[in-house]
Amino acid sequence: MKNSIFCSFLILAFAILVLPAQAQNKIKIKDIKGCAFAGTLPKGVAFSASALPGDEAQGLRDTIVSLGGIITDEILLRAADSVKNALATVYENKRYILYNPDFLRQFKQENDASWKAYSVLAHEVGHHALRHNLGETDCNARKKNEREADRYAGMVLRRLCATREQSLAALKSLPSSQPVGSCYPSIVLRKKETGEAFDAQDSIYKAQPKLDPCVEKVSNIQLMYKVPESIKNTNARANVFNDRVEFMIDIPFTRKRSKVFTHIVVDEKAGELTNIKSFRWKDNPYVPGSKTLVWDFKKDGLDRARAEKLGLLNVCSFDKNPARTTKMELLGWGLMTTAGAGLLTWGGITFGQSQDLLSTYKQYTNVSAAQYAPPNNSRTSTKNEADAKLTQSVFVGIAGGVLFTWGLNKLIKRSVRNKRTFILIPNH
Ligand SMILES: [Zn+2]
Repeated sequence: MKNSIFCSFLILAFAILVLPAQAQNKIKIKDIKGCAFAGTLPKGVAFSASALPGDEAQGLRDTIVSLGGIITDEILLRAADSVKNALATVYENKRYILYNPDFLRQFKQENDASWKAYSVLAHEVGHHALRHNLGETDCNARKKNEREADRYAGMVLRRLCATREQSLAALKSLPSSQPVGSCYPSIVLRKKETGEAFDAQDSIYKAQPKLDPCVEKVSNIQLMYKVPESIKNTNARANVFNDRVEFMIDIPFTRKRSKVFTHIVVDEKAGELTNIKSFRWKDNPYVPGSKTLVWDFKKDGLDRARAEKLGLLNVCSFDKNPARTTKMELLGWGLMTTAGAGLLTWGGITFGQSQDLLSTYKQYTNVSAAQYAPPNNSRTSTKNEADAKLTQSVFVGIAGGVLFTWGLNKLIKRSVRNKRTFILIPNH
């Protein structure tokens, strides 16, 4: 019984001491002053005093601040549901940007929606970075501040690699006329300020392209892998971009050549390269001429650093699509070689016999010598037989030689082809 009373007391103590402490962690501002991008401030806001754990907005703020080129004090980012998109304010001498988490989720989308979100956030960061008085009540001073924040956003958006159009997307999504009594410049003027700041940053980069983070840097790679069977694999070139490699190959036209077979060729040892899938030909790879192939290596799970070291890859053209030789074909060439060797042996033996007969014919001039023993042999018939065997040996020898050379040649070539160490990537 005592225990349960003690427990009740503990729960009560917890409720009194801890719960109000949690409530104190919420900051409530009833009469908020500052800039809401769309121009209308909410009547009041409530937000957590501490940032959301793992809040990605912090990273976006840091990116924008670093791109702004202005050193700022800490700008506190806090999620607040009653804010339409984002607003900048100062509360108890701390600089805040309050944002709607739903609005910020647009950052994850890869279209103009993310640029709108960037613009809004950059504008609000701009107010803090430029140390504006966010409680300013003079309307003209407010308008001047808004124009400066818009310029800040235009400059940052160019540094973030948005297009001019994308840098204006957020302003374009606002109603074209400001509410009565608004201390914001007209949308036309705001777009003009943003656009001009974008252009100013753009001309700085145009004058010094090396400074422009948005210029795609191209690197050339040497394609080292040689393929003996290809028509030409020495003139293939490759340029590496951030997300793709572009291969170029010139396949010469000849009178004989109206069709070719062009492939990516990969060394068998090249591991992950043998799984190349995400590529497309800009031209028909089966007709000679200048060909370009684009390979989106990121889709195949490679990064740029790996793509820049592609020594085990090439783009090659072949007169015939090199296919592996079947066992039946190899057996055929083997039989032909054996038959040729057999004929050669037979020709050699026959030649030997003809030489023996000729030697007998020359050695024994007496027609009735014992070597021309009856019943059928005579000196003349021995000579004839020697001549016949010589002729036979020549024909059989030549035939055997041809068959043997031809068969052996094919056997070696076809076997070597089977042992090749490259893989042709099929053109889908
Ligand atoms: Zn503003």
